[in-house]
Amino acid sequence: MLSPKLLKQLAEQHGTPLFVVDHREVRRNYATFKKYLPRVQAYYAVKANPDPGIVRTLFKAGASFDVASMPEFMIVHENIRSMPAKKRQDWIWDKIIYANPVKDNRTLAELDPYKPLVTYDNLAEVGKVKRHAPHAGLILRINVPNTGSVVELSSKFGASPGEAVDLIEAAFNAGLVVEGLSFHVGSQCTNFQNYVQALGIADSIFKEAWDRGYHKVNILDIGGGFPAPYDQHVRPFSELAKTLNTEFERLFPPQMEILAEPGRFLVATSATLVVEIIGKAVRNGKQCYTINDGVYGTYSGVLFDHCQYHFKPFKSGPTQISSVFGPTCDALDVVSVAEELPVNLDLGDLLMSENIGAYTTASATNFNGMPAPKVVAVGDGRETDH
Ligand SMILES: *Cc1c(COP(=O)(O)O)cnc(C)c1O
Repeated sequence: MLSPKLLKQLAEQHGTPLFVVDHREVRRNYATFKKYLPRVQAYYAVKANPDPGIVRTLFKAGASFDVASMPEFMIVHENIRSMPAKKRQDWIWDKIIYANPVKDNRTLAELDPYKPLVTYDNLAEVGKVKRHAPHAGLILRINVPNTGSVVELSSKFGASPGEAVDLIEAAFNAGLVVEGLSFHVGSQCTNFQNYVQALGIADSIFKEAWDRGYHKVNILDIGGGFPAPYDQHVRPFSELAKTLNTEFERLFPPQMEILAEPGRFLVATSATLVVEIIGKAVRNGKQCYTINDGVYGTYSGVLFDHCQYHFKPFKSGPTQISSVFGPTCDALDVVSVAEELPVNLDLGDLLMSENIGAYTTASATNFNGMPAPKVVAVGDGRETDH
């Protein structure tokens, strides 16, 4: 965690709201992922936080990338400069997967020259890929249980296991090549059994596909969902990794290529937001503070990510339960109704929210004309931080 002294100093220098990204933490999270899952290549899910600095830091650390739109593809492409001209296709597949199962025709046409690796989960997509991106390799996304995950994805994505091998066959019949299977257990997945069940489902689909002669189906993409330690109830990553490694060992031959698409896990803990109190009032007997960022901005995760952010003051003293409101004219713009904050907070005082790196700035709007926070990087080798 960054020290309050440094955060205060940065806020004085740059103003608020200020979004401080600690690139050392990004590197630490990537190193943790690799340490405990040595068999798995991490494709960072850019949608969690598309900051180009984060993309560069993760690329330097050895990561690959999961993108879901042409602009995300270009963010990665433009920030990883060492693409070798020869073996370009191998290199793209090693570095980028286009993991949105549904793509519009124009996107497919724009992707095709890169000979990308893309996911699909339905028959209509096979026809579209054949017509508009015939040079793409395919990964079939399958539907798996998302039980207990904070953000549910199974209602929108994934072929049902019963139709999976027919969809593989349909793609090969169309002259395309299916390279593997993928799934997503739901984001912030603290129920590790979701992964165990998903691996079991994938295993039986691989076996059936191989039985039917489709031996090229040999990549396993275990998606995202790896939980960030927002609170002490989240069990450590090492525990999840141990479960995964046991299942890999039990189910899959050593030559099977395994990749993952962690988003939240790599970036959630890397950012801290510093905001300023711009209004205060007592409403119905309760202390209410208005700050200069809200749910239409960096706290967008309150709505879209089902995530509750908390506030830490830079002052100490006796506390009371307070509400914290965002700055827009919408009554929906309430960041929290239960924050334990000092009674002596004043206009102009600063508050911080930690672990705010994933699904925050990424889904922020500029509703009501409220400006986005300034982003400051520490620990990326360019700015000193002490
Ligand atoms: C959002 C998403 C991810 C990242 O999920 P996290 O839970 O943040 O790790 C990975 N893969 C796909 C296809 C996604 O849509």
